[in-house]
Amino acid sequence: MRAEISIRGAGPVGCVLALALHRAGRSVALVAHEGGSGASPFRPIALSHASRLILERVGAWRALAPTPIETIHVSQQGGFGRTRLCAADAGVPALGYVIEYGNLLASLLDQVRARGIAIESAAGASLLEVHAEGSSGESRQKSYRQEAVVALVTTRPAAAGTAWERFTPEGPLALLPLGGRYGVVWGMRPRRARQLCAAPAEEFVAALQDAFGGRAGALVALGERSRVPLALRVRASRVGERCAFVGNAAQTLHPVAGQGLNLGLRDAWDLAQVLHDAQDPGDARTLRRFAALRRVDAATTVRVTDFLAGAFVGADALARPMRGFALTALDICPPARRFFARRMIYGASALP
Ligand SMILES: Cc1cc2nc3c(=O)[nH]c(=O)nc-3n(C[C@H](O)[C@H](O)[C@H](O)COP(=O)(O)OP(=O)(O)OC[C@H]3O[C@@H](n4cnc5c(N)ncnc54)[C@H](O)[C@@H]3O)c2cc1C
Repeated sequence: MRAEISIRGAGPVGCVLALALHRAGRSVALVAHEGGSGASPFRPIALSHASRLILERVGAWRALAPTPIETIHVSQQGGFGRTRLCAADAGVPALGYVIEYGNLLASLLDQVRARGIAIESAAGASLLEVHAEGSSGESRQKSYRQEAVVALVTTRPAAAGTAWERFTPEGPLALLPLGGRYGVVWGMRPRRARQLCAAPAEEFVAALQDAFGGRAGALVALGERSRVPLALRVRASRVGERCAFVGNAAQTLHPVAGQGLNLGLRDAWDLAQVLHDAQDPGDARTLRRFAALRRVDAATTVRVTDFLAGAFVGADALARPMRGFALTALDICPPARRFFARRMIYGASALP
């Protein structure tokens, strides 16, 4: 018998949706892209506490071995002002958890196979087709004219517990603790990204140390490097006739605040809740309910991320002090810190 729900795209969002629907007793199949199982370049992913709750609920958390983030330190290069967010500000055990994209995906696929969920190479007829195949060309698009340089670096002392976000004139720079090292995501103009990725390791390390300063220690070694173009892509509607869109297939964000996958997992969770008892999962009314449920969370996360991607770039004389005042105000105001931290963790959704 064919599955009643087919999910096109066995990325992290598609896998989590399949696991959630399977737990709810729905018959589901994943449609994997030919060649999609190849190794992906190194990419550190910061999962929020809300994503941890979702992964726990679908039974996929225990198999992961992520690095917890206890503190997030935000600063700007060449200007005053900084903010420190702690897990206690948000009332959670950790502000987030860092894991490598390829490891997360391999573990989720293991869980999918262990539950006997079908993985097919082509979609058959189903009552509902969910698109989870990542970025789509059919979306409204805005290019940031930036690329992210992604790398793995070793520091002395070793990375432990603190994630660093630094706004540089070139673009936002994040150092995420990952198994004693740091995953680097650094936004910058494409030409500069090409130059830095082709440069000798010592030159790359010197540029990174110069942009970051000494807060995270001395950078002593460089692992793999790659670059990814950055754009905002948002679908006009996340539902259609007997189809729905989740994760990057619905919206692809700038990685500045580490929100893309976290938002995608909330898409998957909410869709699974809506479909839980639905008689016909592809029914237009059911799909409209899903679209309505996701509207506010998705729209505000897209807006906040787009604002951060633009607001913290540039070295002009007026922008720098304004950023400094914003960072200082957040730092000295515990209720504002708490609001900001919880917003980044839970989005505008009803979780937990
Ligand atoms: C540098 C960088 C850093 C990031 N850091 C973070 C972070 O810290 N925190 C965070 O939350 N997010 C982060 N993100 C965003 C995050 O990676 C994405 O939001 C997330 O991967 C989206 O998951 P997805 O399953 O929707 O799509 P994808 O991860 O793109 O997976 C889609 C899958 O579908 C497959 N596919 C494609 N086409 C088809 C087809 N026609 N048929 C079948 N299958 C198909 C693909 O092969 C792929 O396996 C970052 C992104 C970048 C670029």
